[in-house]
Amino acid sequence: MSKAHFGLIGLGVMGENLVLNAERNGFSSVVYNRTFTKTEQFLNGRGAGKQIFGAKDLKDFVSKLERPRRILMMIKAGSAIDSVIETISPFLESGDLLIDGGNSEFRDTERRVSDLESRSFGFIGMGISGGSKGALEGPSMMPGGTKASYEAIESLVSRMSAQVEDGPCVTYIGPGGSGHFVKTVHNGIEYAIEQILSEAYDLMRRLTGMSGVEMAEVMGKWNKTEELSSYLVEITEACLRVKDPEDGDDLVEKIMDKAGQKGTGLWTVLSALELGAPVPTIYAALNARVISSIKDQRLSAQKIIQSPPIKPFDLGDPQSGMPILMDSVVLSCFASYAQGMELLRLGSEQYDYKLDMPSIAQIWKGGCIIRSQLLSRIQSAFNAHPALPNLMVDPWFASEVNKRLSSLASVVAGGVTSGIPLPCMTSTLDYINSYRTGRLPQNLVQAMRDCFGSHTYQRVDKEGIFHTNWIE
Ligand code: NAP
Repeated sequence: MSKAHFGLIGLGVMGENLVLNAERNGFSSVVYNRTFTKTEQFLNGRGAGKQIFGAKDLKDFVSKLERPRRILMMIKAGSAIDSVIETISPFLESGDLLIDGGNSEFRDTERRVSDLESRSFGFIGMGISGGSKGALEGPSMMPGGTKASYEAIESLVSRMSAQVEDGPCVTYIGPGGSGHFVKTVHNGIEYAIEQILSEAYDLMRRLTGMSGVEMAEVMGKWNKTEELSSYLVEITEACLRVKDPEDGDDLVEKIMDKAGQKGTGLWTVLSALELGAPVPTIYAALNARVISSIKDQRLSAQKIIQSPPIKPFDLGDPQSGMPILMDSVVLSCFASYAQGMELLRLGSEQYDYKLDMPSIAQIWKGGCIIRSQLLSRIQSAFNAHPALPNLMVDPWFASEVNKRLSSLASVVAGGVTSGIPLPCMTSTLDYINSYRTGRLPQNLVQAMRDCFGSHTYQRVDKEGIFHTNWIE
C-alpha cells in the first residue's frame, strides 16, 4: 500500500464524517481510534470500499502516512489531546503536523502550538463547525497556528470545507490559539441565537396557544427574509413540525426543559469579562441554560413565588410572520453578532491575532451552525470600515435598529408584565439602550467609589484626576 495523504484520530460523530469527506475529496486516509472495535466497525461499514485504511496503534498509524504527515485529532477536548500528543510524538518526524479539530480552550492551543513548534513539529488548532452533516458535506473551518503549518494543510481543508459564492469556508485565521478563539466566539453567538429563537417560541406558545405547525409556519416565513434566513431558523422550523409517533402531539413539548452546555459558551463569557467586551445577550443565553438545569428548584419555586397573570399583547399577525415578534428576534440576533464581533476585535488586539473580520464573516457564511444571510451584511460592514467599533453603528444595521427598536421594547415590556422570562431579548434591549446613551449614571458609581475607597474620578467639565472628602 502506498502511503496515505491524511490521518485521522478519533472515529466519533465528527471524525467519521470528516474522514469520509477527505476521502471523497481525493485524500486517501488512515484512521485510528482508541477503541479498536470502532475502527473495525467503521472500516466494515461506512468506510468500506474506500481509500480509508485502519491502524491498531499509533506507531502503525504514523508509519502509514506520507510525509510531512497531516494528522487530524477529532477527540474529546482537554487532557485527552495532551495524552494523544504525548503518545504519538515519539513516532513523528520533523515537519509533521498535528491538527486539533475539537473544541479546545484557546489558551491550551497557545501552549500546544509553542510546545510542538519548539520540537520542530507543526500544530494547528482548528475550530470546526457544522455538526455531523457539515463534517461530511463541508463544514466551516477556523485554523490557527503558524502560516507555514496552515500552508501545509491548505489544499486539504479548502477542498473539505463548505463552499460559498466567494470561496471556501476556511481561511488562515492567525497565530497561536486564534482558530479556537474564533470558534469559541462562534459558539457563544450560537448559544445566543438558539436562546432567542426559544424565547420567540415561548411567547408564541404561551400568548397565543399556537400549535407546533403554526409556529413552524412563522419560522418558515422568517427564513425567507434577509434578516433571519439562517440554518438555525431552518432547523427550528423543522423541529417544531415533528410529531411524537406515539400520540401525534408536538414532540418538542415532550422534551425535558434542561439544556446542557459544554465549555465554549462559558469560555466566550470568561474571555469577554477578561477583555472588557460587553456581551450581555450571549451571557444571558449561557445563564438561561444554567438556570434551566436547576429544574427541581424551579418546580418548587413555582409554588412559592407567584407569577402575574399573562396579559396578552400584540406580536403581529401570524399570516405576516408576526412582525413585532420578528423585529425583536432580528435585533437580538444583530446584538449577538455585534457582541461576538466586538469580542473578536478586542481579543485580536489583546492577543495580537490580527483577525480579519470580513474573512471571518465570510467563512461563517456556509457550513457552520450560525450561517445566515446576515453574514453578507456583516462582511460588507467590516469591508467598508475594518475598524468598525460596533456592527450596530454601520449605516445599514443602524437604520434597521432604529426601525425595529420600539417593537423590541413592546415585546420585552409585555413579557416582563406577564412574568415571562426573556433573558436574551431583555438583555438586548438594555444593551442597545446603554450603547446609545451618551450619559449613563456611572458618574454616581464613581462618586461612591471615591467616597468609600478614594478611587478618584474624572470630571466632564475640566481635565485632571479629582478626589473629594464626601463625608465630613
Ligand atoms: P464523540 O462522538 O463523543 O467521540 C469522542 C472521540 O474521542 C471518540 O473517538 C473517543 O474514542 C475519543 N476519545 C475520548 N477520550 C480519548 C482519549 N483520552 N484518548 C483518545 N481518544 C479519546 O465526539 P465528537 O462529537 O466527534 O467530538 C469530537 C470533538 O469535536 C470534541 O472536541 C467536540 O467538542 C468537537 N465538536 C463536536 C461537534 C459535534 O457536533 N458533535 C461539532 C464541532 C466540534 P473512544 O471511541 O475510544 O471512546
